[in-house]
Amino acid sequence: MPELPDVEVFKRYFDATSLHQEINGVETYSERILVRTTPDELNQRLQGQSFSATRRYGKYLFAELDEEDWLVLHFGMTGGLQYFKDIAQEPEYVQMRFDFNNGYHLAYTMPRKLGEVQPIESVGAFIEEKELGPDALEIDFDAFRSILAGRRAMVKSTLMNQGIIAGIGNVYSDEVLFQTRIHPRTKINTLDTDTLKDLFDSMKEVLHTAIEHQADPEQFPDSYIIPRRDEGAKCPNCEGEVERIKVSGRSGYYCPSCQTR
Ligand SMILES: [Zn+2]
Repeated sequence: MPELPDVEVFKRYFDATSLHQEINGVETYSERILVRTTPDELNQRLQGQSFSATRRYGKYLFAELDEEDWLVLHFGMTGGLQYFKDIAQEPEYVQMRFDFNNGYHLAYTMPRKLGEVQPIESVGAFIEEKELGPDALEIDFDAFRSILAGRRAMVKSTLMNQGIIAGIGNVYSDEVLFQTRIHPRTKINTLDTDTLKDLFDSMKEVLHTAIEHQADPEQFPDSYIIPRRDEGAKCPNCEGEVERIKVSGRSGYYCPSCQTR
């Protein structure tokens, strides 16, 4: 599922390909990804406009239009973006396509139709409505410590809770905990300040490293567990084996020998 680093990579891709080009039309193939709009309405709203800027917050990408409104893209479990020219070479699983007047197209692709596209007037109001916590890349340590203070939930479920910190999901919470050698089921309120600082530093380090490597696990450092999220895979730090663990209904991966805190 696209998490903060994936969406940041999509943002940079969007910025590099799709800004400042007049939109000729929007083709929606999958109406159920649309929130509070229809294919016709969206097409009319965007025709003749262009995207002027983007923002990312948590797992959401916001594309700003000339007329000071925005389009929010959420990538569900499997979404992505692809910019291409020849319509005969349209990628697979396109749910929505923006056609630009330079002859290029931007496809919003998704094998499983769980994404969301919604026109909004204010990014701030949207973040408030969704009750998102601070963005994981923006938050500083004092704020991190204070939003976690007194919480009794397990550290993995807390990191994945978008209402506490926005951007981290099942995959990156595994990496942050592996790098910090913390067991996924450890309760937040049992972590001392030094351990919380380690957790915070790892969170930043992992997110920045992932973005630097295009959120592509094949390019991640050898010390990372993400490319080894498989039961019985060799732990990148010890001789042990990676195990699967259920936390809040999600299957996470960890090393029981290393993650003992
Ligand atoms: Zn290990």
